[in-house]
Amino acid sequence: MAAILLDGKEMSEQLRREIAGRVLKLREKGVTPGLAVILAGNDPASEIYVRNKGNGCREVGMHSETVLLPADVSQEKLEAEIDRLNRDDRIHGILVQLPLPAHLDAASALARILPEKDVDGFHLLNAGRLMTGEDGVIPCTPRGALYMLRQTGMDLNGMEAVVIGRSNIVGKPMAMLLMRENCTVTVCHSRTRNLAEHTRRADILVAAVGKPGFITGDMVKPGAAVIDVGINRVDGKVRGDVDFDSVSPVAGWLTPVPGGVGKMTITMLLQNTPEAAERKASI
Ligand code: NDP
Repeated sequence: MAAILLDGKEMSEQLRREIAGRVLKLREKGVTPGLAVILAGNDPASEIYVRNKGNGCREVGMHSETVLLPADVSQEKLEAEIDRLNRDDRIHGILVQLPLPAHLDAASALARILPEKDVDGFHLLNAGRLMTGEDGVIPCTPRGALYMLRQTGMDLNGMEAVVIGRSNIVGKPMAMLLMRENCTVTVCHSRTRNLAEHTRRADILVAAVGKPGFITGDMVKPGAAVIDVGINRVDGKVRGDVDFDSVSPVAGWLTPVPGGVGKMTITMLLQNTPEAAERKASI
């Protein structure tokens, strides 16, 4: 039997309706949530992401602002823009589109964003809060992936979860979130020995590797929930880290690419921004 598809498009549409309702309530109280996205340079994929974020904001009734900076912008100028947005009361969320041009220090730029406006959840304070189990902003991609996992209806308590990838934006926060859900979590990476021995034990398998078709059916436990975070461009098409054709007959649930986690990532950003506005207004 083929795996049940976890449809990110459908889930996003439902969630965006809920977010729009939340935004409306805030607007009735005189607060319009606002998101500012800073884009340095003209990386074509980043330009698409930034445009989608702006469109998403408008769809749910939020204020959105895009700050376009030239590829050779200085660190000082970039951080001056962040400072300006930190002071702007119409802006509740600030996002620096990554990757930044190579000469810029991304860590320093991210640290400059006020933690309460850090809707990507990349600020050290928010990363620390996630680590220590305190309330904070949760990075959008892992938050979206967990949301999709919850839609399976499976009881996450005590589940064997294997996350492949240990980046600060996906793998590590994903592992923290799953641990918070009482899963037993294994994090694998490029130095992991006998990867398939780990993945075959997983009730929940999250692939955030960046290699198209990397996870094949023989690496998956029958009935597992497989979350494919990968976004890889191959011959003009977007492919995930999971080989859909061989994994679908084995897994119990599977997120498609496109139309899976990627869709949910922007939706979670749209969710994090009104939440930041609610916290600021103490609503
Ligand atoms: P990174 O390149 O930062 O991390 C990749 C991870 O995969 C690293 O931890 C690396 O290990 C590990 N890895 C690489 N090769 C292997 C291997 N052979 N076996 C096991 N592990 C391996 O990528 P990101 O975390 O930023 O992104 C991962 C994927 O998710 C990409 O395809 C990206 O495009 C996508 N993505 C999707 C998003 C969405 O919205 N759906 C959002 C963000 C990312 P090591 O640490 O040892 O190098």
